[in-house]
Amino acid sequence: MKLRVSKRSSLLTQSEIRNMSIECDKIDGINLSQGVCDLETPLPVRLGAKKAIDAGYNQYSRYDGIDELRQAIAKKMWVFNKIKTDPDKNIIVSSGSTGAFYSACLALLNPGDEVILFEPYYGYHVSTLLAAEAVPVYVKLSPQDWAFKIIDLEKIVSEKTKGIMINTPANPSGKVFSKDELKILATFAIKHDLFIFTDEIYEYFVYDNKTHMSPGSLPEIADRTITISGYSKTYSITGWRIGYSVSHQKWTQAIGYINDLVYVCAPTPLQFGVAQGIMQLKQKQYTNLRLSYTKKRDKFCAVLNKIGIKPYVPEGAYYVLADASGLPGKNSKEKAMYLLKKTKVAAVPGSAFYHDQSGEKFLRFCFAVKDNILDEACERLLKLKY
Ligand code: PLP
Repeated sequence: MKLRVSKRSSLLTQSEIRNMSIECDKIDGINLSQGVCDLETPLPVRLGAKKAIDAGYNQYSRYDGIDELRQAIAKKMWVFNKIKTDPDKNIIVSSGSTGAFYSACLALLNPGDEVILFEPYYGYHVSTLLAAEAVPVYVKLSPQDWAFKIIDLEKIVSEKTKGIMINTPANPSGKVFSKDELKILATFAIKHDLFIFTDEIYEYFVYDNKTHMSPGSLPEIADRTITISGYSKTYSITGWRIGYSVSHQKWTQAIGYINDLVYVCAPTPLQFGVAQGIMQLKQKQYTNLRLSYTKKRDKFCAVLNKIGIKPYVPEGAYYVLADASGLPGKNSKEKAMYLLKKTKVAAVPGSAFYHDQSGEKFLRFCFAVKDNILDEACERLLKLKY
């Protein structure tokens, strides 16, 4: 038989994050590898979905989402992100932000188009680009502050470059891009005529005195920016698959038609739930979210410091990238397996976030778990001897 899987398919493998979750389940460990976020879903969100199911809203919705949700997102985009949108012309509700990004890539990129990614990156960004037959090219963010150098961007950009990916706040580094940095990237994108794809799924997870800024709120790049976000993390509904993209009218319909083809629509009653959440939840809810995650971050980073796995304390999102150079193991996978064996706590090997060897000393931990689970993980880690 000469049949083979597609070349596209052979580029994709099971993510190291899922691998570690499987290893963790085998020994009934504490999973700090996957960003599952098992905190309580806000009541209006749950009630909104339940009511919609009982009221019979169980059919396909419009491919771009129900009116209530697009209107709620439009309002939120203006108040929170400072981006003006028309709910009928600029918003596509999708199957999570993952679906929104995939739809945008298929709609806007041709095979062979290059897209600049900052690394450490979120692996799905790479895989999504590969699935669209685009070519990721990499620029490093350097620890501690995860700064980039514009000269590195200028070195890598070419005739083939069609876009740049920003993830703010970023997974796994926790970097929150500043206004100055976004301005520099805006000038670069205009100079080289690039799309800006920006994944802002952690927009409400920003700590200390940092604030989230959406690149799409800069007027000079508003028409070339595809803003991607969703409610998986904010409302702890990773299994619901509700996300969206916001773009200039020039691009929205193309993105919507791909969204229709691949997903038809996001789950209808769950769209109602999220719309209720956006409309009913007060600012205090989002402030409490930040405060409770700040506590988790501080507690967990203090433990990592104590055991000599030096954390790069994140400014945003809910992961800690930490320097595990001292742990036994010749690469990050071995270090993660060592830690799992000794403590029954699973982390992700740093190699999952780099295209070269640069991640081998890192482990990534997710602290978006209930306090009792985080406490148990901390106790286990404190007993680690190496
Ligand atoms: N974007 C980033 C940067 C993520 O870390 C994740 C999940 O870990 C996602 C997107 C997935 O979001 P969604 O559930 O909306 O598809």
